[in-house]
Amino acid sequence: EIEVTSLTVSGLSVRYGAGAQAVIDADLSVSSGECAVVHGPNGAGKTSLVRAIAGYLPHERVMVTGSIMLGERAIDSVGVERRARLGVACIPERDKIFREMSVRENLDIFALRRASKRGLTADLDLAFDVFPALERLPRGRAAGLLSGGEQQMLAIAGALVGGPQVLLVDEPSLGLAPIVVTDVMTALGRILAERGLAVVLVDQNVRSARRIATKVYTMSGGRLRHETGEDVYGRLVREGYAKVI
Ligand code: ATP
Repeated sequence: EIEVTSLTVSGLSVRYGAGAQAVIDADLSVSSGECAVVHGPNGAGKTSLVRAIAGYLPHERVMVTGSIMLGERAIDSVGVERRARLGVACIPERDKIFREMSVRENLDIFALRRASKRGLTADLDLAFDVFPALERLPRGRAAGLLSGGEQQMLAIAGALVGGPQVLLVDEPSLGLAPIVVTDVMTALGRILAERGLAVVLVDQNVRSARRIATKVYTMSGGRLRHETGEDVYGRLVREGYAKVI
């Protein structure tokens, strides 16, 4: 069964020390089965936004203010590990794979994050179903020896078996061949639909992201904007927020 949840971010700001304000008063919301895609140029603040939601920030010299709600629960003052246990997964930063271990060993470790074993078998099945390449690999091969695409798939599979409600994905297509990007996006689309996850996807690539986007945001100079209307993507490409790769 699908647990319905939502992520609601209001008035979120991130400031690094005395330096620039990376995120300014951002509002974003996404519910189960939705994918909010965030487009924007380098340095716009996208990674800072994702890291603030995941709970990596604040630490010394980083100031985060605003509200982050998971369903009815305020999580903005919840620490990073506890936030993960409550169901907020972040790729790639939190779900760095263990390079010396096999795919299966990695997934066993990520599964420890689950609040309960219930649903674990279904999540493992779904992971191998959407990423058949992971199942075809020689058993026992160290994750560090996998291709970049396979490692990205493992990171996403790992996040999935951790039993999340919300999945934050930062630039999953970076450095991957176009055909692999298509596979990864198709898999993300299936995971979000079949597991009813709420997904926030940062990606510069229009062609892959638009297929799974249910909401589109742009970010520029720290400001996040919800984009609506006809031919959003045509406009974003013209305005330089997204690229056709
Ligand atoms: P990119 O796609 O290049 O990663 P981005 O949209 O993810 O860009 P951020 O990485 O969030 O943007 O950066 C937003 C702003 O915050 C930039 O001006 C950046 O220089 C600054 N910034 C990011 N991390 C830090 C940090 N640890 N200390 C100080 N400033 C930082």
